[in-house]
Amino acid sequence: MDLPKLSIAALGGTVSMQASNAGEGVIPSVSGEALLSSIPELTTLAGVTVETLGLLPSASLDFEFLLNVLSWAEFQVKQGAVGVVITQGTDTLEEAAVFLDYLWPYDTPLVLTGAMRSAAQPGADGPANLLDACRVALAHNSQQRGVQVVMNGQIHQAGSVRKTDSLALQAFSSPVVGPAGLLLEDRVRYLRPPGQRTVLPLPQQTTQKVALLEASLSADTLLLENILALDYDGLVIGGFGAGHISQRWATTIEHIAKRIPVIIATRTGSGSTARASYGFGGGEMDLIRKGASMAGFLCPRKARILLWLLLGCQRQHALAQYLNEDI
Ligand code: ASP
Repeated sequence: MDLPKLSIAALGGTVSMQASNAGEGVIPSVSGEALLSSIPELTTLAGVTVETLGLLPSASLDFEFLLNVLSWAEFQVKQGAVGVVITQGTDTLEEAAVFLDYLWPYDTPLVLTGAMRSAAQPGADGPANLLDACRVALAHNSQQRGVQVVMNGQIHQAGSVRKTDSLALQAFSSPVVGPAGLLLEDRVRYLRPPGQRTVLPLPQQTTQKVALLEASLSADTLLLENILALDYDGLVIGGFGAGHISQRWATTIEHIAKRIPVIIATRTGSGSTARASYGFGGGEMDLIRKGASMAGFLCPRKARILLWLLLGCQRQHALAQYLNEDI
């Protein structure tokens, strides 16, 4: 019997990490091929192609690198892969997932996974996560769901998933909506049907710069005042509460928003920004009047990625259309 084709790429991260010498700390050094040897049962499920595209800690991934990963994944689909799996570090998993999701035009599942414990640690979760990710990528009911993150027996949508714990095994969650699905007794079970997706054209340029600042109590305005002089093309602020900043910051924003797109998200880690609740200076109604856009449910990091991609394909003027309230 012909097995379905599955393509796997390793980028690095804890799932690919081991220590060369005792006491030195783990570094990315385990190839994709070696990762596969930890899940021999996969050979009964799929005909697998595996490549090591990088051995990086995920903090050092960048958009250009991810664009290369995207074209590799597209090539796999064109070669007949029914699913694609990418292993990477968990520190930036939520950002890589949403970046790829905005650019993934296929119904074919693209699944990202990683590990919280390296291979040498007792109870390493890498092999289980990788096998789960492969099962999700191979499952027929994973079609039309764009990019998903599989960790610790849960399936999360790219748009909603966040790393919400630094070291725990259960490090990923999807605030407000919860996981899109679960792996139950090796079966892929979805808790809701696929939602509507936004797919953007590939960026024609990659030199645009989008700054991300977080509002904090009694913060000065030095960085903010220099955003335009530093040639940023866009600005995202992780605002207080429902998307608020201080009166001092708001005064500066008015000037900036006349020149470049400004998005205000919430720094709380969960929930949406408001649109029509607070009327004080620096509140969302004031900021909208001053020309800023509210991020809705998009977290600051994902709002930055959306703006970077829109600038890259000259669609920044349609920002409001992309910042809808869906999650
Ligand atoms: N701690 C990270 C991980 O879980 C390291 C990284 O993101 O590369 O993979």
